[in-house]
Amino acid sequence: MKNINPQIEQLNQLIDSHHHIVALTGAGISTSAGINDLMHMPMGSGSLLSSESSLEADPVSFYKELHKTFLDQIFQNGPTIAHKALANLEKSGHLDAVVTTNVDYLHEIAGNTKVADIWYSFNHNYCLKCGHEFSIDILNQSGVPYCPICGGLISPGPTHHHIGTSRTDIENAVTWMNEADMVIVIGSNGYYDRVKENVPLVQINPLKTEFDQEATLNIRENADDVLSGFV
Ligand SMILES: [Zn+2]
Repeated sequence: MKNINPQIEQLNQLIDSHHHIVALTGAGISTSAGINDLMHMPMGSGSLLSSESSLEADPVSFYKELHKTFLDQIFQNGPTIAHKALANLEKSGHLDAVVTTNVDYLHEIAGNTKVADIWYSFNHNYCLKCGHEFSIDILNQSGVPYCPICGGLISPGPTHHHIGTSRTDIENAVTWMNEADMVIVIGSNGYYDRVKENVPLVQINPLKTEFDQEATLNIRENADDVLSGFV
């Protein structure tokens, strides 16, 4: 195995010498929790999850698939080492915020308080009958969740919004990115590309991505290995 310590040392120095760091994360940060990239799921899964009509047509199959692809991993495996590292970096004042294209809410579960979930998350779920909104807790049960107020079917946020973008979260993301003096991109393929020029960009990703060209430091390893020192 390649010795990645010099790169981690360089990352530590960059973190110490910057004061407004934002992490931009994508599917790669959640794969060690067992969650696949929505865009690369076995055929049908991604579209199944984004289709409210398939939820209404067959709630049992829909939630069975949702448990298999997301909910069991979120509630049983929880945040990865990298999620926990980012939460610690925020707590110690080294990280301003997280911008993520993930819908799994694992950054918040890990303890990050400033998170822009730009494609919504499983923390916003809606009753299809009375419209009441529920947090992620309503999904933490086996089978199909129903509204405790009116008995209506619950639609998960990303499904309800057809994996659309959240305007509030986009606004936060733009603000935080504009204030950033350094960006750490973790496991993102570049679905979100509002990365300022002229600020150091550190990328942690074992795969080639759109960020390769502009990265000041490119650590081609998985995020858990690189960030374990921060947990
Ligand atoms: Zn209801």
